[in-house]
Amino acid sequence: QTATFANVRKSLPDAMQDLKKATDADTSENKIDLGAGVYRNEQGQYHEFDVVRQAKFRLDALQLGHDYSATTGVSSFTSRAAKLLFGEESPAVREKRIASVQTVGGTGANRVGAAFLRRNLYSYREAATVYLGEPAWGNYRPLFENAGFRVKTYTHCYRGATGAAFDEVVKAMAEAPERSTFVLQASCHNPTGLDYSREQWQEIGERMLRRQHFAFFDAAYIGFGNGKANAREDDSWVLRHFMASGVDTLVCQSFSKTFGLYSERVGALHVICQSAPIAENVFDQLRAQTRWEVSSAPAYGARLVDIILADHQLTQHWLQELHSAAARIDLNRRKLYHLLNSMRASVGWAHMASEKGLFSYLQLSESQIEALMKEHHVYLPPNGRINVAGLTQANIGRAAEAIGSVTRR
Ligand code: PLP
Repeated sequence: QTATFANVRKSLPDAMQDLKKATDADTSENKIDLGAGVYRNEQGQYHEFDVVRQAKFRLDALQLGHDYSATTGVSSFTSRAAKLLFGEESPAVREKRIASVQTVGGTGANRVGAAFLRRNLYSYREAATVYLGEPAWGNYRPLFENAGFRVKTYTHCYRGATGAAFDEVVKAMAEAPERSTFVLQASCHNPTGLDYSREQWQEIGERMLRRQHFAFFDAAYIGFGNGKANAREDDSWVLRHFMASGVDTLVCQSFSKTFGLYSERVGALHVICQSAPIAENVFDQLRAQTRWEVSSAPAYGARLVDIILADHQLTQHWLQELHSAAARIDLNRRKLYHLLNSMRASVGWAHMASEKGLFSYLQLSESQIEALMKEHHVYLPPNGRINVAGLTQANIGRAAEAIGSVTRR
């Protein structure tokens, strides 16, 4: 008799975990970590927002303890999270048409959102198809397949291109059966850094309405889009536009990057509905889905964000800090672009000038990436996507030299 589980094989490898292991194992002083999508400071380290430090003191003084929170999370947090994305004066907010629940980070929002759609947008017997623009965040495909979706892909962006491949999404939307789900990133696209323009989003919205497609938005980097004061409004513009145009939309909101709360798993899921009574029922479905999956999301990080968003001064302080982070990334990208351009290379870097957010999608082959890690101690994922925040004034010259040298071969 075969032993139980004897036929079980190892699961799919996780490129990001493997990269982290390789990075941690390298003890060289010259190591440059351009891997995980984490905002790093000028010392190349994890960066704790000062405003979060202040909120921790306030929270500690409140002595709230650790009793269970409601299944749907800290309700003041979810409502402030919705206002942050859609604006206090948004009609959907005022008319109570948004069903919002707290989730285990942005990934949890994707998971609960996918499970909710599979049960409530498609019937049990119907095939449900989700469309992904590739290259995409690596977790989408397994996450949606796990929720019972069939995954189809189109090209979000060609390597080396200076903009997203608009014609490809338009074609995919025309060819997809009506009422298909499209996973879209609101801004600062992971991994390419290339987003659709406002005009393109307008056109995409019209086509989605016509075909009754569902917009499944992932918003993990709102505010990192440019170093300017309007970055947050700019990055979330498409969400408000789709909402106003009546495209069926849900939004997965992550606070991991925007508040530096990665390990606290702070997120929210917002489903925009056409009326308050519909939103009430949807909210109840999200409650049940959350209860079945995780019972409730962790309170600590959500309480910190709630404290910040409840206080005007702290909110302003947070916005300033977010703004400086985005400005630093902007500066790094421009400097790297300038340095790489001044070197002879077999590929071009023009795409960097249109990229936004934490990432730059370099045209590097797997063997060039291997050489960067083995010979130059520069660590990046196998798809050539670098975390621009991992560059510092101290290491950017060396990083550029290394990238230049492997692309000259
Ligand atoms: N969506 C995208 C596009 C991401 O890049 C990430 C994290 O890297 C997430 C979602 C998940 O964020 P969280 O850590 O909050 O689960």
